[in-house]
Amino acid sequence: MKKHNFSAGPSILSDFAVNNTIDAIRDFAGTGVSLLSISHRSKEFQAVIDEAGALVKELLSVPEGYSVLWLGGGASMQFAMIPYNFLRSRAGYLDTGTWAHNAIKEARLFGDVDVLASSESAGYTFYPHGYAVPEGLDYLHITTNNTIYGTELREDPDAPCPLIADMSSDIFSRPVDVARYDAIYAGAQKNLAPAGVTLVIVKEEALGRVDRAIPTMLDYRTHVKKGSMFNTPPVLPIFTALQTLRYYKEIGGIHQLQSRAELKAARLYEAIDSSAMFEGTARMEDRSLMNVTFVMAPPFKELEKDFIDFCSQRGIMGIKGHRSVGGFRASLYNALPMESVDFLVEAMHDFESKHK
Ligand SMILES: *Cc1c(COP(=O)(O)O)cnc(C)c1O
Repeated sequence: MKKHNFSAGPSILSDFAVNNTIDAIRDFAGTGVSLLSISHRSKEFQAVIDEAGALVKELLSVPEGYSVLWLGGGASMQFAMIPYNFLRSRAGYLDTGTWAHNAIKEARLFGDVDVLASSESAGYTFYPHGYAVPEGLDYLHITTNNTIYGTELREDPDAPCPLIADMSSDIFSRPVDVARYDAIYAGAQKNLAPAGVTLVIVKEEALGRVDRAIPTMLDYRTHVKKGSMFNTPPVLPIFTALQTLRYYKEIGGIHQLQSRAELKAARLYEAIDSSAMFEGTARMEDRSLMNVTFVMAPPFKELEKDFIDFCSQRGIMGIKGHRSVGGFRASLYNALPMESVDFLVEAMHDFESKHK
């Protein structure tokens, strides 16, 4: 049975990326040796990491003066590395979900943190707007897409300080004005590659301004200077990331990815809004294009588990909501085809007819 994979992360990758990775595990770049067993300092792998960095810059129109880094430790490691390297005295954070909350907790180890707005008391069902950003912050940290709650900020905010963003779950789904950011980071396992690598785009000039000593591996300057090769980088996920980036370029780049994301999300939200059985959980104007969160309307609440079983019998996987929220979450990352969204919508209709 064909599977339709709505998993929130690690999540679906394109066939192009998966198949090319399988081939390279057998024989990498005509070397006769597996990608898994070759030196990261070989000229063949150097070409991979160079091209991957160049494609990130091309797809996101990254201006001069920024480095693209490939680091271990996941996005969660960035929660500490960011303040370690950028927090001198005071930073602003938006508390928009569990991941943002975790980032705030880490930043507090390094200096004063102003939580400028929070949607926690509303169960993180909206993205705050209209908050004031005081002068003199070292940076404002935002989480552009709240993977668990299905809210998203699809624009780069205006602030009187540099921005830093966790874009783990919506990078490469819209154009970004990188010049507004001192750093952007994204764990790869949502829209890019298998788990194990984190993409970081960092403004070189913004580094080296803190007084504290930074351990070598946690200092972005180490990785800028060594081209992410200070130590052994996550070779396999970087290779897959390159395949994904080539695929993104091939299909038409960031604007194409954006319009596909808009179409897929519109299709599913339309199905939710026109149904009497399902309802969305996030405030309409803040709805995520990447993670669509919804529940059964109150009269149908007891059917939630049945719907998940109904879906899995049809090959629809990964739509159970995060354990902290419940209900359903359909993640529509870039590699998910429209056909899968249509398939889910059809299942929703069929289930609703069956229970009316
Ligand atoms: C998944 C996710 C994380 C956590 O990523 P790890 O790589 O597991 O540390 C952080 N932020 C956001 C927005 C996420 O979606």
